Amino acid sequence: MNKMTVRDLSFAEKRVLLRVDFNVPLEGPTVVDDTRIRAAVPTIEFILEQQPRSLILMSHLGRPKGRRKPELSLAPVAPVLEKYLDLDVAFSDDCIGEGPETMIEALPRSGVILLENTRFHAGETKNDRDFARQLARHGDIFVNDAFGTAHRAHASNVGLSETMTAVAGLLLEKEIDYLSTTIEDPKRPFVAILGGAKVSGKIDVIEALLNKVDKLLVGGGMANTFFAAQGRDMADSLVEFEALDIARDLLAQARDKLLLPIDQRIADAFDNGARQRILEAAADLPSGWQSLDIGPATIDLYARELGGARTIVWNGPMGVFEMPAFAAGTFGIAEALAKETANGATTIVGGGDSAAAVEQARLADQISHISTGGGASLELLEGKTLPGLAALADR
Ligand code: AMP
Repeated sequence: MNKMTVRDLSFAEKRVLLRVDFNVPLEGPTVVDDTRIRAAVPTIEFILEQQPRSLILMSHLGRPKGRRKPELSLAPVAPVLEKYLDLDVAFSDDCIGEGPETMIEALPRSGVILLENTRFHAGETKNDRDFARQLARHGDIFVNDAFGTAHRAHASNVGLSETMTAVAGLLLEKEIDYLSTTIEDPKRPFVAILGGAKVSGKIDVIEALLNKVDKLLVGGGMANTFFAAQGRDMADSLVEFEALDIARDLLAQARDKLLLPIDQRIADAFDNGARQRILEAAADLPSGWQSLDIGPATIDLYARELGGARTIVWNGPMGVFEMPAFAAGTFGIAEALAKETANGATTIVGGGDSAAAVEQARLADQISHISTGGGASLELLEGKTLPGLAALADR
């Protein structure tokens, strides 16, 4: 990476402002998935080992749209963090102004404080200069470790980087290493698997990957649109009719690089208890039925295609995995990735649903890298520059 990181600076006696991604799912005041909190711990510990004057943590949570929304408070995160760090974490109920300034001043040496949701202020998402300056008052050095928001130009990442010395944290560095460096110069064979609901949101990533991979395996609802583009009747399946021309172009461009499912699990309703059966690809779907997962022959075929690959990237579920009846395809691919990791492949799972599926399958520790950012990881796969990264100091 051509950006400065925490390894390039000394933090002793400094007030360190650290932007983390604590955008975690909450149920009431309970954090239901603390993956992103755990992912920030190495950078926090790295900085604390150098005995800074203080460590000030900032994050957004959800989309409060510039207003104070109690249900989107970061307060529930502080005790979770205390548990992982095994030290006190103070909490300030605002991220700017006298309140946090007084609390930061009063912290013991190397004390840690978490500031309230930056998006409670409209200046955050507007990348407002004045708001960024008010945040900047809290610290001497800025570290950005929030990969999940690196594709946005907001005050707490880009704005701050423009007002003070700004470097990458360890998580951001690791994400870039896997999702950018590894993919730019992949060990071959390089195979990508794409799924999820729609083609339309992933056209750029499909095009970018077609230029780089040896094989692109397609599953999920996205495959239905490709089938429809080939003239197959997909009955009640999720098909994006407005994307048919694009799907046709992509198929022509891809030639034999792009693989579609050879069978599908179809159902007579969008319901876990629906009647279901396996249908070979090419056959039209009976009226009233829909395709909700890849079939067993496709799982085998895709597992074989992954066999011997040295770099694998996966984004998007193979079916409606939220319903156990249609989760076999997604879990089958997760297992295939774990197997190839053991065989020496570098395996990378984009954030969001596929990351959740790997967690559910309890295979997370058998994958080389699971990204903490869905949108940001897709933009990197598209070959785009992330504003949050671009704004950091060059090495
Ligand atoms: P995305 O956000 O585009 O990655 O889409 C993820 C969603 O796609 C998940 O919620 C899946 O339930 C859904 N999905 C995957 N396969 C299908 C399918 N065959 N039909 C409808 N939805 C699907």
